[in-house]
Amino acid sequence: MLALAGIPLGYEFVFVDPSARAPASAVGEQVVCGYDDPTGHAALSACQVVTYEFESVPVEAAEALAARVPVFPPPLALRVAQDRFAEKSCFRLLGIGSAPFEAIDSLEDLQRAVSTLGLPAVLKTRRLGYDGKGQFVLERAEDAELAWKTVGQAPSILEGFVRFERELSLIAVRGRAGETAFYPLVENHHRRGILRKTLAPAPALTMDLQAAAEAYATRILEHLNYVGVLALEFFEVHGALLINEIAPRVHNSGHYSIEGSITSQFENHLRAILGLPLGDVSALTYSCMLNLVGSLPQSEAVLAIPDAHLHLYGKSARPNRKVGHITVRCKTEAGLAQRVAALEAIPGVCEPQ
Ligand code: AMP
Repeated sequence: MLALAGIPLGYEFVFVDPSARAPASAVGEQVVCGYDDPTGHAALSACQVVTYEFESVPVEAAEALAARVPVFPPPLALRVAQDRFAEKSCFRLLGIGSAPFEAIDSLEDLQRAVSTLGLPAVLKTRRLGYDGKGQFVLERAEDAELAWKTVGQAPSILEGFVRFERELSLIAVRGRAGETAFYPLVENHHRRGILRKTLAPAPALTMDLQAAAEAYATRILEHLNYVGVLALEFFEVHGALLINEIAPRVHNSGHYSIEGSITSQFENHLRAILGLPLGDVSALTYSCMLNLVGSLPQSEAVLAIPDAHLHLYGKSARPNRKVGHITVRCKTEAGLAQRVAALEAIPGVCEPQ
């Protein structure tokens, strides 16, 4: 999707991906190798700029490349986002409210933290957790042993459980000269820890909520001397925002922007890292993005819905794998709700529960 946004601007793309014939190979040259492989680094070092859209790229590989070619977002952002304890500590340092949390390195730590933070609480591995993986919700003190086993006794954090009203995210972008732009907050719906639906802009979005999210984003962007798109995920609780996590990349909750915004998150990420002026982030209309998780609907049925746009990633369908998304638009919120309901009734759009 980054390349699809950049080709019209006259750029060519080289991708490093360990799986042969990765989806991106349709829109640029692919070097099939690991992220720390010298062959890949040689190909990337010949580029004008290097970026990533996958959070598990080894920080050391990004840092090594940064000595040879501009790498954005800065590897420091990757380092912070890859470790939930570093990430939450960064929010604390910047005065951004989050769920209370404690570092957990042993069962004893966990038992102690359960008594300090109270229950329910969520145990999350510090590293390599995404889409709800590496997580355990503790309801009772007796759950501690099973929770610790379930996360593989890996270094973790325990977080207080947040009884949020809804989940929101902000797509922020910062250019090389420090200029910023913020998309309107969007509302996200998850099932089994995986994003299923994004409503953009978030229904009943107030200027106060948007301003609070932008103020938090500004602190993080400046602290990390960030360049590119940064996604911030929030819980809304009684009209206030608690931050859950950041993603130093273009984000699934910003996919709607391809059709829903004047400038998509993909084009703005490229503009930012290339030192070009940022584009207008205003919403064109009401949009909804539906993820295709684990199964594919019939294209004919999706495209029969007015103003529905289908994006298939060229990945084989497997349970819990995001294989594409649909964005549907409408000038009115009520009209959008009808189109979303029609889409959700199509077999394959909503994975069976
Ligand atoms: P994460 O991997 O941190 O994005 O968590 C995945 C999903 O689990 C989030 O989108 C929330 O729906 C839920 N979740 C994560 N942390 C908490 C928490 N502290 N309290 C309540 N729900 C949570």
